[in-house]
Amino acid sequence: MAKETSRSRAHPPGGVTPDFEGVWEYVPAPESTSHVRIEPRYGLFIGGRFVPAKSGKTFDTIEPATEQKLAEVAEAGEADVDAAVRAAERAYEKVWRRMPGKERGKYVYRLARMLQEKAREFAVLETRNGGKPIKESRDLDVPLAAAHFFYYAGWADKLDYAFPGRKARPLGVAGQVIPWNFPLLMAAWKVAPALAAGNTCVLKPAETTPLTALHLAKLVEEADLPPGVVNVVTGAGATGAALVSHPKVRKVAFTGSTEVGKRIQRALAGTGKRLTLELGGKAANIVFADAPIDQAVEGIVNGIYFNQGHVCCAGSRLLVEESVHDLVVRKLAHRIRTLRLGDPLDKNTDVGAINSKAQLEKIRELVDSGVADGAVLTQAPCRLPVKGFWFPPSFFTNVAQSMRIASEEIFGPVLAIQTFRTPEEAVEKANNTMYGLSAGVWTDKGSKIFHVSRKLRAGVVWANTYNKFDPTSPFGGYKESGFGREGGLHGLQAYLEPV
Ligand code: NDP
Repeated sequence: MAKETSRSRAHPPGGVTPDFEGVWEYVPAPESTSHVRIEPRYGLFIGGRFVPAKSGKTFDTIEPATEQKLAEVAEAGEADVDAAVRAAERAYEKVWRRMPGKERGKYVYRLARMLQEKAREFAVLETRNGGKPIKESRDLDVPLAAAHFFYYAGWADKLDYAFPGRKARPLGVAGQVIPWNFPLLMAAWKVAPALAAGNTCVLKPAETTPLTALHLAKLVEEADLPPGVVNVVTGAGATGAALVSHPKVRKVAFTGSTEVGKRIQRALAGTGKRLTLELGGKAANIVFADAPIDQAVEGIVNGIYFNQGHVCCAGSRLLVEESVHDLVVRKLAHRIRTLRLGDPLDKNTDVGAINSKAQLEKIRELVDSGVADGAVLTQAPCRLPVKGFWFPPSFFTNVAQSMRIASEEIFGPVLAIQTFRTPEEAVEKANNTMYGLSAGVWTDKGSKIFHVSRKLRAGVVWANTYNKFDPTSPFGGYKESGFGREGGLHGLQAYLEPV
């Protein structure tokens, strides 16, 4: 395959691109941070109190956009995890499982309201600690997290009607391990249904993004939840491993990489613990020639550049009908020139910082492999800030199925583009992956949407849109994207046992 790559050259193939650079510039519009207090040090939240780790160990959490240290965070060892699980078990046996659903629902509802009241604080924290643009944390992460608490609050006193003809009871202590791409939202996906169903929780946020989970713990304290109902233990992979393998944990909910998910599944085999795994993805976003192309291009951009591509359901493989390939590529190349990369706290920013140095290295390594394999790389001509972790919005054309960029999860702002000629070929290529989390279909014909989406082995299929989330709608995967569903009634079911 011809290799005509240039790493950071703009790509205006054909036509004249109006050049507004240097003519009109956006005035910086930074979100205020004065209302947000980041403590210099955070403890573990166990039994309703913040306590230091028994070992006294801490680790630094940084701002990926500047590499500045934000705070020191306690590192939970096995003894701390044990204390947290025991606190959760006591709270479960003595208070939470006995409390009428109506009362439990009030607490969950209170958390939702308080999250809304402190929305700006949470948005700034999420953006500073994770690197995502403030307009995303402000307009998506925080409102959706609150919506999850509202939605599940409504279920707390209706469990007897949730599964007609059957009663259900809670499972006990839930051990919940979450990743760094949507720290607050993933905490809400885990904690809200668990509490509404009458379980208690021990939550382990990702090492790089502990701050919003710790501030959620503060809300739990302010909302006066009974001590031990929600516990937060911070640390690295070893803390997560100690939590999921603790014998008193009855239910494990994990979101993260397929590799760690498999390790957890192996560790839990034969223990009788309930498990849901929400793992990686390599979703196909399929664009037919009859699709509204400009809207599809917006959907492609949203599918892969939203949250710097750190999205398990990202539309990271674009399958485009051959006859419109050149048109779509031209429009996409033009569109990514207009994406603004930079200070995540600036309200004009579209693409923020990569979450960590390790993730940046992983993206670079995979992109280098794509170039070496002969795919053609196009990148937005952005100026990358000197400090921090950054990667420009990018896409590959001339991609063969055998290349790593076509099959491995890059988890960054990098799209692999392939073509197809018939709906059957589109479906075959879309399903030719070890993953099965999500997919997108763009076409003018409703019948084609149903015809194609029924054949896609993906947990979620979006039609003429992408990355739409709603707390009432179940989300989860097939194959190596995991099993179990979060959200909606299915998400509630994962925390209940029929009796
Ligand atoms: P991991 O799967 O390692 O991390 C997810 C969570 O699991 C984190 O809280 C992590 O802690 C914890 N963890 C790590 N090891 C164990 C273990 N043995 N037992 C229990 N918990 C554990 O993902 P990474 O952060 O390493 O990301 C690697 C890749 O995974 C990414 O490049 C991406 O491809 C994919 N990924 C997919 C996600 C998704 O939503 N599907 C989310 C995140 C990553 P700690 O953070 O401290 O390591």
